[in-house]
Amino acid sequence: MSATTPTIGTATTPSNQRYLRFALIALLSWLAVSAFRDPLGVVPLVSDIDLAIHEFGHMLFMPFGIPILGRTMVILGGSLTQVAFPLIFVLYFLKKTADGRRRDVFAAMVCVWWSGINLLSVAIYCADSRAGQLMLLDGSTGQESDGHDWFNLLSHWRLLQHDTQIAHWMRGIAGLMCIGAIGVAVITQWTQDQGLADS
Ligand SMILES: [Zn+2]
Repeated sequence: MSATTPTIGTATTPSNQRYLRFALIALLSWLAVSAFRDPLGVVPLVSDIDLAIHEFGHMLFMPFGIPILGRTMVILGGSLTQVAFPLIFVLYFLKKTADGRRRDVFAAMVCVWWSGINLLSVAIYCADSRAGQLMLLDGSTGQESDGHDWFNLLSHWRLLQHDTQIAHWMRGIAGLMCIGAIGVAVITQWTQDQGLADS
C-alpha cells in the first residue's frame, strides 16, 4: 500500500502545492490568532469536530456505561481525548518511512496546531470552573448544572481556587504549541523549497 500512497513533501512536489502549503500556514496563523482572541476560542468547523471528539472521549472511558478507570477519568476523558487525539496523527506523520525520511513533518505540525487549539478550548473550560458561565451541552450554564467537567475535576482535586491559574498555564502551552507548529511548518517548507532550488 505504501508504494502507491500519495506523499506530500517529496522532491516531486509540484510548485502549486508549495503555494498551497504557505497559504495553509497563513490560514492556520490567522485562525489561531482569532481563536486566542475569542472568549470561546472558536475555530469554525474545527471546534464542532473537537466537541464531538470531546464527547467521544467521555464514552471512551466508560464503555457500555462502565467507568473502567473510575469516575474521574470519565470526566477528564473528554478534555484529555480532544487534546490527545490530534497527537496520534503527529506520531504517524513523524514516523520514518523505509527510506529513512519522516513521512510528513508539515502535516505533523498541522496536527500539533490542532492539538494546541484543543488545549486552548480546555483552558477556557477550566478557567470557567468557579465562574460557571459557559453554556454546557445540555443548554444550562455551569452554575445551573452539576455537569461542568472542570468544576467537578478541580473540586475533586481540591484545586478549585486555582482554576484560572491552571487555565493560564494551559493557555500558555497551547500558544506555544500553535506558534511552534507554525514556526516548524514554515522552516520545513522553506528548507524543502531551498533543497528543490539547489537540486
Ligand atoms: Zn465534557
